Amino acid sequence: MRRLVSNPPNSWRTSEVEYLDEIPEAHREVFEDATRTILSKNDEAVVGFSYGVNPYRGCEHACAYCEARRRHELLGFGAGTDFDTKIVVKPNAAALLREAFEARSWQGDVIVMSGATDCYQPLEAAYRITRQCLEVCAEYRNPVAIITKGALIERDLDLLLQLRERARITVTISIPFWDADVARKLEPGAPTPARRMRTIERLAASDIDVGLAMSPLVIGLGEERLADLITAAASAGARRATLGFLRLPSPVDAVFAERLAIAFPGRASRVLAHVAEDAQPVKAMIAAIYLATCRRVGLPCAPVGDDRSNTPPAGPRELRTFTRPTRQGSLF
Ligand code: SF4
Repeated sequence: MRRLVSNPPNSWRTSEVEYLDEIPEAHREVFEDATRTILSKNDEAVVGFSYGVNPYRGCEHACAYCEARRRHELLGFGAGTDFDTKIVVKPNAAALLREAFEARSWQGDVIVMSGATDCYQPLEAAYRITRQCLEVCAEYRNPVAIITKGALIERDLDLLLQLRERARITVTISIPFWDADVARKLEPGAPTPARRMRTIERLAASDIDVGLAMSPLVIGLGEERLADLITAAASAGARRATLGFLRLPSPVDAVFAERLAIAFPGRASRVLAHVAEDAQPVKAMIAAIYLATCRRVGLPCAPVGDDRSNTPPAGPRELRTFTRPTRQGSLF
């Protein structure tokens, strides 16, 4: 898909780029991060986990609503097409994780992969950093929770099974839209919703604890398919469900608004109005459908919340700079 560079102004920078002539196309660029720490600690109880591991930064799944876009600005990039195409990889992540597990202070907390990226985005096929980290977790019998849209997780089923035996593993597959057209337009780099559902089915068939996350639910873009989505997940073998509504912190709001207007020009203003007005009666109605459907199909479900699945707080460590560009679009 042809994409032109488009980023909102980076609030951490004092200058911004403006193209007076032709706007260039956005191409994949890969950067290596010489980070010395791999665990990001979250102190916000609302995030729901203590330690995250992000083998990558940026994400080629390119979801328009992704809150991790904010964190790309801290690296000096833009939150728009830069987030989708300028991908930072951490080749030494597994070695750093081993170091962290060797520390006397390590208590064996659950490691969440990942808060600021998708650990099974396309580059993982070549880099295998997520796989290496899982190998370390299996070796140290450390529990892991994975959140992903990537079908590539099926490659690592052998490791997931080891983790299931030796520690604990939960997988959450994110499917906010059951409508393939909406997903293609707003999550253009991710597998189709049906393909993600097949991943749930395959993991469940191997007795992996796998759940469905419908976050963020975007009011006005397919909530009428919610019951179908939950029913399909229950049939596929999901063991739990969560639902969170869209939030649009800056600069994600600008990215989402731009892409929504291109994808659904007739519906964009209404969708954005729902977010701005915090449409409580509509949210309550959707929550009721969610709870009633989960009950009907026997799927345990968490209370409805705002979408926080990708929002570990930024800390000083995030402000470090990374190193050199390595390759440009040459991996496949
Ligand atoms: S929401 Fe997840 S899959 Fe989508 S771009 Fe963000 S990190 Fe990637």
